[in-house]
Amino acid sequence: MSIPLDIAALGERAASMIEELGAISQSPDNLTRFFLTPEHRRAADLVGRWMREAGLEVSEDALGTVRGHWHPAGPDAPRLLIGSHIDTVADAGKYDGSMGVVLAILAMQAITRLGLPRPYGVDVLAFGDEEGTRFPTTLSASGAVAGIFSPANLAMVDADGVSYREALVAYGKDPEDIPAAAYDPDKVIAYVEAHIEQGPVLEAEGEPLGVVTAIAGASRLSVTVTGEAGHAGTVPMRMRHDALLGAAEMALAVERIARADKHGMVATVGRMHIDPGSINVIPSRVVFTVDLRSGSDTSRRDALTRFEREAHRIAGQRQLGVVISAFHEVATVPCYQDLQLRLRRAITDVDHRAVAMPSGAGHDGQAMSKLCPIGMLFVRCRGGISHNPAEFASPQDMGLAVAALVRFIERFQLPHLENDTSGAET
Ligand SMILES: [Zn+2]
Repeated sequence: MSIPLDIAALGERAASMIEELGAISQSPDNLTRFFLTPEHRRAADLVGRWMREAGLEVSEDALGTVRGHWHPAGPDAPRLLIGSHIDTVADAGKYDGSMGVVLAILAMQAITRLGLPRPYGVDVLAFGDEEGTRFPTTLSASGAVAGIFSPANLAMVDADGVSYREALVAYGKDPEDIPAAAYDPDKVIAYVEAHIEQGPVLEAEGEPLGVVTAIAGASRLSVTVTGEAGHAGTVPMRMRHDALLGAAEMALAVERIARADKHGMVATVGRMHIDPGSINVIPSRVVFTVDLRSGSDTSRRDALTRFEREAHRIAGQRQLGVVISAFHEVATVPCYQDLQLRLRRAITDVDHRAVAMPSGAGHDGQAMSKLCPIGMLFVRCRGGISHNPAEFASPQDMGLAVAALVRFIERFQLPHLENDTSGAET
């Protein structure tokens, strides 16, 4: 028998909790909530209170990650981790991160009320440093939970010159305790996160929920094109070596390569600097960036090779110089096949079709994948808008997401996963 759920009521409750959490901000005009600030403290306290009300036992680790424990089989039983983050970017939306924490708490509230006997436990986690907006860190809170926290983080400083270590101590934490924040991999079954999609796919598909196949890997390039400056009025077109026209053609090549890819590759030229940048001078030098993401590392690497070849061909034709340097690379993190299957079944249980898609945005799951198998559930977001105050998920969709999480946990009879295909490319 499955737990009876009032989806509309769950959605309304989620919406009101998100409003309450979204009101905790460093700025009176918008939502800005950075790691280890007084607002982080207030948000963590509120989340802790909700966890207790949901029947969970609450603790907090050395990086301020709030943990709500449900251990029907005792504290030594293996556990399922469900979470997201409560820090935000500057001028953020209310749903990114916070929604995943709220949905997990509501799902656990439904589970604990029924006292489902299970041979495993569930921990709800609310991380405080996903966005990396205060310190130049990457997933430091989930990194500590996964046992991959880099001590170099402690020396990083924020915009006011406050170090990570100082901020941590001011928050009431002891950096010496960080290693103890790590879970024992043998005791963890999986990490699952519900998150706003942050893109337009579910809306276009007309479906409220999606299952993430992989968190896309990314490459970032800096491309410098050199030509020759000249008078805009006197140098005939056929005698020019215009660096900008070469760069523009290369940007179109990036687009062409990404469009031809079958793994949903996305590529963006988001920055372009033109020298000398005068209205009447032929551009002599252009530096632009390429951000390339794909759910397949193989196709991403192929695309990089193709782009390099194209850029040199274009430069050769136009008699320009080109230098390409890669300055950032993150590998794809595949979501565990068995978890994808279970999440898909849970979405079917709430009478919807699961849309499979890669996540182009980064998530705590990237760090958590070093600890255990990961899975992600996406919730439709209006207009695909995120990292923006206009971010919105409907109460109905959130109610369905809570219900899907409950069904997912309910069906999780055994404390282990099947068909181990982790690491397979999707
Ligand atoms: Zn997020």
